[in-house]
This record gives sequence, C-alpha cells and structure tokens, in this order.
Amino acid sequence: MAQRRGGCAPAVLIVVLIIAVGLAVFWWLRNKKEQPPPPSGDELQVHVLDVGQGDSILIVSPTGKTVLVDAGVPGSGKAVLAAMNRYNVKSIDLFIATHAHADHIGAADEVIRAVQTQAVLDSGVSNTTKNYQDFLEAVKQSNAKFIQAEPGQNFDLGGGARVGVLAPIKPFFTKSELRSGGNEPNANSVVTRLDYGDFSMLLTGDAEAQTEERMISKGENVQAKILKVGHHGSKYATSEDFLSRVKPEIAIVSDGAQNRYGHPSQETLDRLRAAHVKIYRTDLQGEITIISKGKGYDIKAGREAKENELFAGREAQRDDSARRGFVDYGEYGGPPPRPPKEARK
Ligand SMILES: [Zn+2]
Repeated sequence: MAQRRGGCAPAVLIVVLIIAVGLAVFWWLRNKKEQPPPPSGDELQVHVLDVGQGDSILIVSPTGKTVLVDAGVPGSGKAVLAAMNRYNVKSIDLFIATHAHADHIGAADEVIRAVQTQAVLDSGVSNTTKNYQDFLEAVKQSNAKFIQAEPGQNFDLGGGARVGVLAPIKPFFTKSELRSGGNEPNANSVVTRLDYGDFSMLLTGDAEAQTEERMISKGENVQAKILKVGHHGSKYATSEDFLSRVKPEIAIVSDGAQNRYGHPSQETLDRLRAAHVKIYRTDLQGEITIISKGKGYDIKAGREAKENELFAGREAQRDDSARRGFVDYGEYGGPPPRPPKEARK
C-alpha cells in the first residue's frame, strides 16, 4: 500500500508540472500578443490639428500608413485636407469616428469624398442626425470597409506602430445611467491607444469619467505618455483617479477659442497641474505635432503660449450639466456681442 502511494506521487508531480508549464506558455503567448512589435526607428507623426471647437488628429506611421481620428466641425474639411496635403498624405488607411457628434464627424463626409479611405472605425451607436447620416452615406459611396469598434481590436500601422481599441465597452451606456446632461454618443466614444516602441498616446474622444471608470474596472491598459484630454477638457472628464492610472507626461486639449461651454474647465486644468502634467492647447497654440522614433518623442506647438495662460480655464456661459438647452456638440459660435460701452458700466 505504502509502496503504491509512493509510486503515485511522482506522477501527480509530473501532471502538476505539465499544467504549470502549459499555463506559463499560455500567459507568455497572451502577453506577447498584447505587446506591439518592436519599433523600426523610423518616424511616427501625430498632428493634433487646429479645427476650432472639435477634434481632428492625423497620424502618419513609420511606413506611411495614415489614420485620421475625427474630422472636426462641418466646414473644417478644408483645414483637414490642407493639413493632409502639407504632410503629403494622399489616402487614409483608417478613419476613426470616435462618436457621432458634429464637432467630430462634421466634416468627415467632405474628407472621405475627397481622399481615398480604406476603412472606417465607428462606435456602433446609432444616430439620426443629418451630419451622421451624411457621414454614413459618404462611407457607403467610398467603398471603405465599415468596422464596428470592439475592445481588443488592433490595427497594425507598420514599422512597429499599432492602434488598439479600448472602448466602447458593451453593453453601451444608456441615457438613464449617465449624469444629468451626459449623453450616449460621448459616453460610448471610441477610445484608442497608439503604441510605438516606448511611445504611447491615449485618444479618448469625448469620453467622460464614467467611461474612464469602466475602462479601469475592465483592466484596460490606459497608461500612456500623452493624453488627448477627453471632451475638450470638460470638468466631467479626466478624473483624478483616471489621471493616476494614465500617468501622462503631456496632455493635449483640442478646443476652440470661441466656445461657450467653458472648455477646458478650470477643474480639469487644476487636476492636470496637480498631477504635474504639461499642457498643450490647440485654442492657444494652434496645431500640435508629436514626432517619435520609437524611443522618446519631440513635441512642438504652432504658437507660443505662456504657462499661466495654458492653465487658465474658460468660463462657461451655459452650464453643460443642465439637460435643458444643452447643446452637446459643435462650434457654438462666438461669445455674445458685448453690450455698448455705456451699458457696461
Ligand atoms: Zn466633442
């Protein structure tokens, strides 16, 4: 009896060992798959375009592949196309529509009609606005592949650069789950991260704190060197907890000088300052360009701005927490005309 037991022990040990080795190999393969390939050392460019109160970000990979993340408000097509021309970009390999609001896909139809587009990544949240329908129609006519974003998707840009999808995470946020004044297109924004060697950038669309929390709770890797600040610097995005996970060195706010919604908000700028993050803003500095060769990065702004200006928030002329009268997208036009001099006293 004792002998038989003694014979069993090595067999059990071998089985345990095989399982352990199997698990280790599985874990290694899984991690290997999650890691982007090594960088070629050629130049990756990211241009955060100056499109006023909206987003449009042009990425040119080390092998010349191109990604355009959003295309600004209706009417900014010319500026987006001019920028593409400036960087010798003749076609778009991937257009990412972070969400259906006009300050993100407003000029997408114009751009997609003008430039050959291979694929379009969309949040999958349906929307009936004319802007969004025009965008869908342009995609249809362009024969671009229409892809619904799913966390875990990766798009190889060549040379070791990669764009990965982090959100929207299903089930989609519904109106009743959101803060007062929040909306589904923003909450279900396509969030991506760009990786190239040790360089990384998080592109958050108009995602706010609830989306940030969901990404964290699902274990998405949000840590990045550069953060495209969510929702143009709204106080409802870029939470302290999120910042402590992203640990960005640089934050870029894409916004317009003439917006009535207080973007970027003083609260968000204060949180960024407390986290020792350096800020760039398109409203004050124009186009922001980042260049990386897979090790470190250089960043330059179109115009100079003083540190105290960069950390000064805009005052909201309309509270974007109120549901009534809330306009959740677009170029809101200039501030109301100043009353005549005598009335101002
Ligand atoms: Zn927006």
